Formats: sequence, structure tokens, C-alpha cells
Amino acid sequence: MEKEYMKLPVVQELAAAKQTAWINPKLQPFSEVRQEIGMAEIDDAKSRLDRFAPFIRKCFPETEKDGGIIESALRPIPEMQEYLEHTFHTSIPGRLLLKQDSHLAVAGSVKARGGIYEVLKHTEDLALQAGILRPGDDYGKLTEPEAREFFSQYKVQVGSTGNLGLSIGMASAAIGYQVIVHMSADAKQWKKDMLRSHGVTVMEYESDYSEAVKNGRRQSDKDPKSYFIDDENSVDLFMGYAVAAKRLKGQLEQLNVVVDEDHPLFVYIPCGVGGAPGGVSFGMKQLWKDNVHCFFVEPVQAPCMLLGMATGLHNKISVQDIGLTGLTHADGLAVGRPSGFVGRVMAPLLGGEFTVDDKWLYEYMRGLLNTEGIFLEPSACASFEGPIQLLKYEETKKYLKEHNLEGKLEDAAHIVWATGGRLVPEEEREKYKNTYL
Ligand SMILES: *Cc1c(COP(=O)(O)O)cnc(C)c1O
Repeated sequence: MEKEYMKLPVVQELAAAKQTAWINPKLQPFSEVRQEIGMAEIDDAKSRLDRFAPFIRKCFPETEKDGGIIESALRPIPEMQEYLEHTFHTSIPGRLLLKQDSHLAVAGSVKARGGIYEVLKHTEDLALQAGILRPGDDYGKLTEPEAREFFSQYKVQVGSTGNLGLSIGMASAAIGYQVIVHMSADAKQWKKDMLRSHGVTVMEYESDYSEAVKNGRRQSDKDPKSYFIDDENSVDLFMGYAVAAKRLKGQLEQLNVVVDEDHPLFVYIPCGVGGAPGGVSFGMKQLWKDNVHCFFVEPVQAPCMLLGMATGLHNKISVQDIGLTGLTHADGLAVGRPSGFVGRVMAPLLGGEFTVDDKWLYEYMRGLLNTEGIFLEPSACASFEGPIQLLKYEETKKYLKEHNLEGKLEDAAHIVWATGGRLVPEEEREKYKNTYL
């Protein structure tokens, strides 16, 4: 029997693997949104990261210059803006900015936010409980041999398509934990190699991300000294991502980018299971409310969050249920089933979504490299689909009209969230640069 959801026009477009745009009909004015989590939880996460700064600085010397704060630059990319307008026959009114989480310390991807934050929170919990840390202590003491020995009796496990594993693996190994990363079939060999060289145990699966997570969770649950980082349901991970917004505020001010009723801010973020784009957007909505417009971008073969939100079925539906493969060159976005937690939190907050064909990821990648000299991995390049298409689809044009944005676009800012790339080895970069689909 034909499923009811197959009648939705957007689901038919997704099932046909067409590039599309979807506007979230459940978006609410921010003043009407009632949620159990908010700015207080983000502030708590931010303070925890500040407490850990002396520790991070010692563990990861590359963070020395930023005082142990893992943060990325925000920079205008006018040459890329011109290239996109010209090449894709579009107009991107306002300023185009790149948020370079692709270049974050330690993990070289957006996962350095949520992933490392959750490992640190767990570490604080264990250390306080065992009395090796007291409130008010300098957390730098956690790098001492006694502390490392204490942590070495504990395990951290995680399921990943690659980058989350890298982030959790590097952070956990630095603290002294035993780490097991359960990698899905999509994970790149170099990511597994890099982890193994840091003493991390990598379990490989023939199956997709959801299976790797399920197996990891099962193994971890059997062991009382093992902690499982659950990308599909973790509030901690989400809050680690959300801290990005608080730090972005100062960066926007430095660039003289105003965000208010007359100066809208658009943000475009690639989406896999949803934690990273969800957390970052959640933080931005708390700060800029109705003046920030958040859009996710997913591959045409793996639009799991769009499917979950549009049908209202969230994690009860997978892209395979509508006949898609879930396979994509965007390994970081190769997720067939979204986080139900993120879908529900974002239901009243998300502006909408775009889907993108894999072949464009490589074009955007080469474009950015040629115009601005910045390398991003293919997954991260999905974000460019947003500003290119914003004025092209009927759905998004209607959104601009209904939110009274049409006359304000010249004063808008668009942030393309670059989610990964720094750690990609040179041979891999060469391969990407020469990939034409
Ligand atoms: C993980 C990842 C994303 C998406 O994050 P989710 O939390 O899975 O939605 C986007 N880009 C890159 C490069 C990633 O590694």
C-alpha cells in the first residue's frame, strides 16, 4: 500500500532525487517558541569550555595562541561571491561570509565543537566525582600523570561517518581514555589511519552510519566503565555546537555586520544527522531571534532531516524508505535517518532546507580554492547551494516576501558554514580537485 507521506509534493521531489528547496511550515515567531532548553544551557556550556581552556592549551599546543579556546575565523569572501553570481547566473545581494570551522584546531571540522565539548563534560563529571578535581581548580592539572592514569581505566565510544570519530578520538586519546570509534562504510581510509596512529581502536562496518551507532551503543552499554557519545540524541553535543553563536557575535561586530530587523542574517549549514547544524542554528536563534534565517543543506541521496521534518516522522523514517540510496560523495552528510531530538527542537526554528547534487560540491570546492585560496572538503561545500538558490526557487522567494525581507537584501549578510577540510591529506585534495561527476 502506498504510504500517506508519499503524497506530499516535497517527498515526491526527494524520492526523485531532484534538487529542491523546502520551507518549514512550522517555523514560529521566536517570541512564541516555548522550549525546555535555551540560553542558560548555552551559557553553561560556554563556561565549561572556558574552565577547560588551560587544559586544552596544554594538551593541544596549536590552541596556545587562542588561549585554549577552539574557535574559527569568519571572513568575507567577495571574490567567491562574484564567481558564484557569474557562474551560476544568480544574484547574492548583501555580504557573503565564510565561517571557517573547516580550520578548527584539533579536529579540522565543526565536530571540534560538539564532540570535544561532550568529552570534556564527561571528563569533568568523572573528575569531580572522584575528587581529583575540585570546583575552582586550575583544570590544567588534568594533564598530570595521576589524572591520565585515572582516566585510562575508562572508555569512550562513538559511531561516526568520519569526522565525529576524529574529534572524539583525538580529544579522548589526549586525555588518556581508551577510545573505540565505530566507523560506517562511508568513512575515509585516511581518517581511520590517523586515528589509529593516535592509539584509537577503529572498528569498521560494512553498513551505514545508523548501524555503526547501534553497534557502538550496544558494545558500550555492556561495559559500566564505558561512555557512549550518542550523536543521535545528545543534548551535550548539541550545546557544544550552540556555543558557536555566542562567539560569532563578536566576530560579526568586528566586521561591522549589523543584525537587526533591517539587516537580516542568513545562515546555510550542511546537515548530516543534524547535531552540528541544529546546535549552531539553535544558538543563533537564541541570540538573533526572528532576524536570523537558518537553512540546512543536504545531498539529494541523503536528505534525512528534510524528510523527517517535512513528514513529521523525524527518526521514524529513513531516506531508504522513499527509495533513495543514502550514498553520497559528501561523506560527512551520508546519514539516512535524522536525529529525532534535533528535528523536534528545530521544528519551530528552522527556515528551511535545500538539497544539492553531488556534482556541484566539487564545482563549489574548486571555485572557492581558485577565488579565495581556501580548501574545503566536499561535504562542507554543500552550504554554497543556499546563497546560490535563495532567489531562484518559488518557495524561497515566497519566504522572503512573507518575512518582509525583499527590500532588505542589499543590507543582508549570508554566512556559509564551512564544516571541514583542514586535515584532508594532500593526495586526497588532489583527487577531489580532479573529480568531475
Ligand atoms: C558531521 C558533519 C556535518 C554535519 O553535522 P551533523 O551533526 O552530522 O548534522 C557537516 N559537514 C561535515 C564536514 C561534517 O563532518
